[in-house]
Amino acid sequence: MIRSKGLVRRYPGFELTVEALEVPPGRFVTVIGPSGAGKSTLLRLLAGLERPDRGRVELQGRAVFLDQDRTVLDRSVLANATFGLELRGVRRREAARRVRPWLERVGLADKLAQPAVSLSGGERARLALVRALAIEPDVLFLDEPTQALDPGNVDRVEGLLREAHGQGRTIVLVTHNLYQARRLGQETWFLLGGRIVERAPSERLFVRP
Ligand code: ADP
Ligand code: ADP
Repeated sequence: MIRSKGLVRRYPGFELTVEALEVPPGRFVTVIGPSGAGKSTLLRLLAGLERPDRGRVELQGRAVFLDQDRTVLDRSVLANATFGLELRGVRRREAARRVRPWLERVGLADKLAQPAVSLSGGERARLALVRALAIEPDVLFLDEPTQALDPGNVDRVEGLLREAHGQGRTIVLVTHNLYQARRLGQETWFLLGGRIVERAPSERLFVRP
C-alpha cells in the first residue's frame, strides 16, 4: 500500500504538485508523460528516496527502487544478483540457489563468473532487475526498466514484471512508452508539467472512439 497526500517538490524552474494518491496492494500502476514532466521525481518521492517540500508519503511493505542507471557492483554477475539477499542475511550458497532461476530466465546463467561491469547495457538492465526481484519485495518502483533495450529483451523484462505482478507484488513503473503503459498497467497516471493531468484504467489508453 502506498498513500500520499498534498505532495509538493520544487526545483529551480520546476514544481511537482500532486494531490492524494493511493495504490492498493497488488496494483500495477504505470506512469507516463513527456521528458521533464516529473515522473522520476514522483517515483523517488513515493519510494521515500527523496523528501517532499510539503506533504507526506506512507509506504507499507518491503520496497525496492530500480533506477535508470542500472548500476552494477564491481563484482561478478552472480555476486551482483545475490547482493540484496546477502545484505538481508541469506547465506551466499542459499542466495545463489534462489537467484539461479531468475538468471536463467533473463539469459545470464552462462555469465555468472563474469565481472558485471563487462556486461552490455541490456544485460545490466536484466541483472539489476534480477537483483531487485530476488529479495521478493512487496513493492517495486521501476524507472524506465526497458529503456534502450532491444525488442527481445523488452519482452523478457515485461514477462518478468507480469510474473512479479501475478505473485501479488505492487508495481509502479515509469515509462515514456504509451504502449508499454497500456500492456502492463492496470491504472495509468499521465504526468504533464509536474501535475497528474489524467488517471485512467490502462486499457482505456488508445482506444479508438
Ligand atoms: P521525467 O522523469 O518526467 O523526465 P524528472 O522528474 O526527471 O522528469 O524531472 C522533472 C524536472 O525536475 C526537470 O525539469 C528536471 O530538470 C528537474 N529536476 C529533477 N531532479 C532534479 C534535481 N535533483 N535538481 C534539480 N532539478 C531537478
Ligand atoms: P543488449 O544487446 O544486451 O541490449 P547493448 O545494446 O547495450 O546490449 O550492447 C550491444 C553489444 O555491445 C553487447 O552485446 C556487447 O557485446 C557490447 N557492449 C555494450 N556495452 C558493453 C560494455 N560496457 N562492455 C563490453 N561490451 C559491451
